[in-house]
Amino acid sequence: MELSMIKDVAINQNLRPLLELAARVGRDPLLTQASTGNISIKLEGVLWVKASGKWLADATGDEILIPLDLAEINAGVAQNLDPAERYSNASIETAMHVTLPHRVVLHVHSVNTIAWAVRKDAAAQLEARLDGLRWQWIPYVASGLPLAREIEKALSTRPDTDVLVLGNHGLVLGGQDCQTTENLLSEVERRLAIAARQAHPADYALLAEFAAEAPWAVPDDDAIHALATDPVSRRILEGGFLYPCQAIFSDASTPELFRATPAADGMLESEERRPFLIIEGRGVVINRAMTPAETAMLCGLAQVVQRIGSAAPLRYLTETEVAAGSTTATYRYRELANASH
Ligand SMILES: [Zn+2]
Repeated sequence: MELSMIKDVAINQNLRPLLELAARVGRDPLLTQASTGNISIKLEGVLWVKASGKWLADATGDEILIPLDLAEINAGVAQNLDPAERYSNASIETAMHVTLPHRVVLHVHSVNTIAWAVRKDAAAQLEARLDGLRWQWIPYVASGLPLAREIEKALSTRPDTDVLVLGNHGLVLGGQDCQTTENLLSEVERRLAIAARQAHPADYALLAEFAAEAPWAVPDDDAIHALATDPVSRRILEGGFLYPCQAIFSDASTPELFRATPAADGMLESEERRPFLIIEGRGVVINRAMTPAETAMLCGLAQVVQRIGSAAPLRYLTETEVAAGSTTATYRYRELANASH
């Protein structure tokens, strides 16, 4: 066999467990929704990282990874060049993946983690739950280079850190191999698990009436209706955006879209342009134009808010943070996410 072929075989042997892990994680809606979450492995000077917009769930059937020169990215990051901007198809979190020294890095939008990470008292709440793990809390910061810089700072004080909880965002884990990383994920998930609050069932008769007319449809996932039928969840949504993806995928600049509409009101024409409608006390209908990615994000949101306690002090995104999330880069990310899968 030629040397290049031997190298290819070695790379494939190393990538296969990573892709299988990616697929398992991607198929769990409590860990990733649509194209959120990403994964990487560092192999002989190459960073294999998830391409922007790809779904982890497609890992074993689609080419979701792209190879990037590790030294080149590191040199760029040192000069404040964001790899996600330099390489148009690189994951928006590529800078984070190179900043972490671990061979395998996994980032998920775990609904259990997010339910803690949107709290003002998140660091204190996590302290007891993650006791004994090598973890650190990273207060909210924008994705890309800013997040990578904060992680760099955190690692400079405790270089052995292999769990990072990202405020208003999610979870990052690092390990020597896929098995170690997956075990760590299971352990963190077990410790941060929250039972979803029971919500009143949806009024399916009313939803069917809505769905009889354009543009509405009744979503497949029954859990989504909690956004409308659970009073605690409705109140949480009224307060603002909990994490950037909520704003990005709904294409909303204000949380108005997530405010429940009273069922008694007649249909307003302006409402027909909405991607979804939260009907107070009754359930959720989605616009037929809504993409699978947008629907997956809304289901994820329902899972998060159903895990937030009614008395939890919440830290919503500020207007500046929401506006900063609506940059060209994140819109491109959303478009890609909607196009694939
Ligand atoms: Zn993320």
